[in-house]
Amino acid sequence: MTRTPLIAANWKMHKTVSEAVQTARDLLEQLGGAPPDDRTVLICPPFTAIMAVRETLTGTGILWGAQNMYPRADGAFTGEISPRMLADLGCTHVIVGHSERRHIFGEGNQLINEKVRAAFEFGLVPILAVGERLEHRQAGLEEAVVEEQLAKGLMGLSADQIRQMVIAYEPVWAIGTGETASPEDAQAMHRFIRGWLGAQYGEDAAQAVLIQYGGSVKPTNVDQLMAQPDVDGALVGGASLDAEQFARIVRFQAP
Ligand code: PEP
Repeated sequence: MTRTPLIAANWKMHKTVSEAVQTARDLLEQLGGAPPDDRTVLICPPFTAIMAVRETLTGTGILWGAQNMYPRADGAFTGEISPRMLADLGCTHVIVGHSERRHIFGEGNQLINEKVRAAFEFGLVPILAVGERLEHRQAGLEEAVVEEQLAKGLMGLSADQIRQMVIAYEPVWAIGTGETASPEDAQAMHRFIRGWLGAQYGEDAAQAVLIQYGGSVKPTNVDQLMAQPDVDGALVGGASLDAEQFARIVRFQAP
């Protein structure tokens, strides 16, 4: 099974509308107008810049998505954004369960599961982020933590939904810290995730699902990470804010 790698930018709470448009334009220029056709490129700007980034990226082959959402179509949820609104903006993907949502905003696996399901309901591809904290890894609990996040986050999904979605393995200790999991450690966890999915949903679904790595991905380490057989892409925070660096990540060359 060939999986098309997904390189995604998570701009977090960075960039005004004009800065976002400029970065998207710079990225297009760096990429010669379009991404290479053997990989998918996705930009997740802050909500306020999605519309403007859409205008810049429409027709270029680069996709846009969101970093979060609330799992209802609409209603009295002050300050929240719904999957229906994101679909209306042409978003293809939504990140769900990012560690900053889990740890800063206290999101638990049940809410995250509702978000995953709501994404499907509105035709969005959920990117479910999972990953252990440093203390878990030091205690040898990284697989147990990730397994629980998967089991609870994916509850109620069909094998067909699993095959369409994206899992992002993001060890919390590697996010925004400059620390990267070694390519071997990343591969070991990605293999564990694919194996777990295979046992729950069948080998076909496990072979189809994209498993991205996230955590201080940079131009200098992307090639080795992408060379791992179960690493199907990257979710990039800090290095995606700079068009030149992100373009180099998009142009990764796995040997
Ligand atoms: C992220 O926020 O998903 C992320 C991986 O950030 P960084 O690349 O900055 O570690």
